[in-house]
Amino acid sequence: MPIRVLNPQVVARIAAGEVVERPASVVKELVENSLDAGSSQISVEVKGGGVSLIRVTDNGAGIPSGEVELAFDRYATSKIGNLDDLESISSLGFRGEALPSIVAVAQVDMVTCATDERAGTYLSLRDGVIAGQRSQGRSQGTTVMVRSLFRKIPARLKFLKSVATENGHIANVVSQYALAFPEVKFSLFLDGRVALRTPGSGRLIDSIIEVYGVEVAENMIELKGEATAPSPRVAGMVGSPKVSRSGWGYLSFFVNRRWVNSRPLARAVEEAYHGLLMPGKHPIAVINISLPAQEVDVNIHPTKSEVKFRNERAVFSAVYRAVRQALTEQVPVPQVEAAVTKPIFPSATRGSLSTSTTDIAPSPAPSPTPAASLPVLRVLGQLDNSYIIAEGPDGLYLIDQHAAHERVLFERIEHQRSRREIEIQGLLEPMTLEVTPRQEALLLSHYQDLAEFGFAIEPFGDRTFLVRAVPALIYNKDWSGMLRELLDSLSEEGDRGDWAEGVARSMACHSAVRAGQALTDAEMRELVQQLEQSATPHTCPHGRPTMIHLSSGQLKREFGKT
Ligand code: ADP
Ligand code: MG
Repeated sequence: MPIRVLNPQVVARIAAGEVVERPASVVKELVENSLDAGSSQISVEVKGGGVSLIRVTDNGAGIPSGEVELAFDRYATSKIGNLDDLESISSLGFRGEALPSIVAVAQVDMVTCATDERAGTYLSLRDGVIAGQRSQGRSQGTTVMVRSLFRKIPARLKFLKSVATENGHIANVVSQYALAFPEVKFSLFLDGRVALRTPGSGRLIDSIIEVYGVEVAENMIELKGEATAPSPRVAGMVGSPKVSRSGWGYLSFFVNRRWVNSRPLARAVEEAYHGLLMPGKHPIAVINISLPAQEVDVNIHPTKSEVKFRNERAVFSAVYRAVRQALTEQVPVPQVEAAVTKPIFPSATRGSLSTSTTDIAPSPAPSPTPAASLPVLRVLGQLDNSYIIAEGPDGLYLIDQHAAHERVLFERIEHQRSRREIEIQGLLEPMTLEVTPRQEALLLSHYQDLAEFGFAIEPFGDRTFLVRAVPALIYNKDWSGMLRELLDSLSEEGDRGDWAEGVARSMACHSAVRAGQALTDAEMRELVQQLEQSATPHTCPHGRPTMIHLSSGQLKREFGKT
């Protein structure tokens, strides 16, 4: 094919792909426009996971009737005018790409009325071109309706997940902006149901109550901005170590109130919690970093969700200091001591064991096709309160107690579920489970499926569920943490993988003995015996190895004997 310039329709669709990845991207762009317009009330209505309808209504500045059509042109924006403006962006939008991108992949209607105008304007766009325009009454503000998203782009449509998952992403976007703008009244309706409503009081804690629930809100600690160092200023709230979570999804960062993803910032916060959280736990934090617009470049990605700081080190250390200071004033450090090692082997032996394992056992199973079943093993002791040392007919076995127990429980749960034999434990009093809007969307579509695993859960309104019974296996464990983690993993993984298997895996993980837990000889023997009977003893349900096997031959080679 000869070289040709693509026709404008193709160009528009390619460009749209960078901005509009999924329904939640549309919600993000429209909410950002409403915020840029100075709205104090923003309502988001969604049907069918955002594919059927997304309607965002605000009471912001509106668009003057003479400019409505122009707003849908590519690179048309009222927010910046020249190159200098690009150096110091104070609005959320500035690229003039969102409306044209949405129009390229959906049917769009807009009604808007600007300040000082008596009548508003209605504009409708079909397949990227204006299909109708007239004046229409409306109070000041803008409503954008997006219908049939991706209908003409089967490739995109195919990659969308279930309605529940897309709703989860949308709920997350609105939640994040509700946290960033506590002075704005947000409401989110998913298929007619209120998923989130914030009071717009201007107090961050009120938004946190709505997004994360009262229990979390009661355990949030306010960051004190450093008065002496005006830039960067770090404000917001972080969770006390008591309300940590198992996922990463509870860290919200805003730079000049723009919601951003940043691994380095997450690391700075995580570092500040060093020694305060149990292994595998992550903090909850809502942090806004304010700094002069010239100090940060927001123009590095079409979705504007990543930023570059001129002085990264200064920003990260300001975040670290602010969080650490808030935490140390609240909790004595360190709260969680490293697990004390039980001296089973003299230290010299342990040392040589650990060096040799790094050489010998980087792969999960030493032989390419490990024998499916385990030989009978003799327990020798426990290492680091985490590993069981055992001897078999052919050498030494180092068994990860948590991973091994997970494997055993996983098979037991799957077996019992298939026979409808899961033991259920009723709660003396029903307990409530508060979830985030995103988790709610998922739990609403899955709570009935949880019954076969022994959970009796019902919706209780207002992002709360009533739990009447739980599987006996995790009755004494952190089952609410397990449910939250399960929902988070569902939204992260989308709909991949088998849902039932995910539940069984999550239950097994939360009921299994932890690393750092001392076991009696009898407990270790029992666990090893159960593992011997497992169908696939070498890996945990997540696919990680349960054990390292050093054969007698490998040991001899290590010690230089032939
Ligand atoms: P950008 O936000 O980058 O400027 P958009 O394509 O999102 O680009 O929007 C184009 C223009 O339309 C904006 O610059 C703004 O002037 C106007 N606009 C869009 N949405 C709204 C709204 N909800 N209220 C007022 N003006 C809006
Ligand atoms: Mg915009």
